[in-house]
Amino acid sequence: MKTAVYPGTFDPITRGHLDVIRRGSHIFDELIVAVGSNPHKKPLFSLQERMEMIRAEVTDLPNVSIDSFEGLLVDYVRSRGTNIILRGIRTIADFDYEFQMALTNRKLGGDIETVFAMASEEYSFLNSQLIKEIAEMGGDVTPFVTPAVARALQERLGGTV
Ligand code: ADP
Repeated sequence: MKTAVYPGTFDPITRGHLDVIRRGSHIFDELIVAVGSNPHKKPLFSLQERMEMIRAEVTDLPNVSIDSFEGLLVDYVRSRGTNIILRGIRTIADFDYEFQMALTNRKLGGDIETVFAMASEEYSFLNSQLIKEIAEMGGDVTPFVTPAVARALQERLGGTV
C-alpha cells in the first residue's frame, strides 16, 4: 500500500490543485490531502471551510481523504504511516522553493521522499492568491475554480461571478 500526503494551504482549492490530486490518486493507493493550518498565512477561508471545499470536489475519488495538520510536515507524514509527500510544480519559478523544501524535509525526516506532479499546462499559471485578487475586483474566476468555490469567493469577497 503506497500512501502519499499532498500538503498545502488550499486557500481556496483551484483547478490546478484538483489536477494534481487527480494525478496523485492514480499514482498512489491512498492520497491524503493535508490542509496546513499555518496562521502566519492569514488565510481567507478557515481551516474547516478549506477542508469542506476540497471534500466536496473529490467525492468521485474514493482513495482520496482530507485532513489537516499543524507543526512539522515530516512529523505529520510519519504519523500517517508513510514517507511520501506529493507536491505540484507549475513553472520553473516553483522549482527553487520546492527543491529547498524537499531537501529540508529529507534532512528533517530521514527517508522522506517528495514526488512532484506537473499540472496540465492549462493550469500552470494558476495560484490561489491571484484568484482571490481577481474575485475581489469583481472578475470572473470560473475558469480557475469550480462553481462551488467561485460562489464561496463571491460570498466572501463580493465579486461578481
Ligand atoms: P503552499 O502554501 O504549501 O505552497 P498551496 O496551496 O499554494 O500551498 O500549494 C500546494 C501545492 O500545490 C504546492 O506544491 C504548489 O506548488 C502546488 N500547486 C498550486 N497550484 C498549482 C497549479 N496550478 N498547478 C500545479 N501545482 C500547483
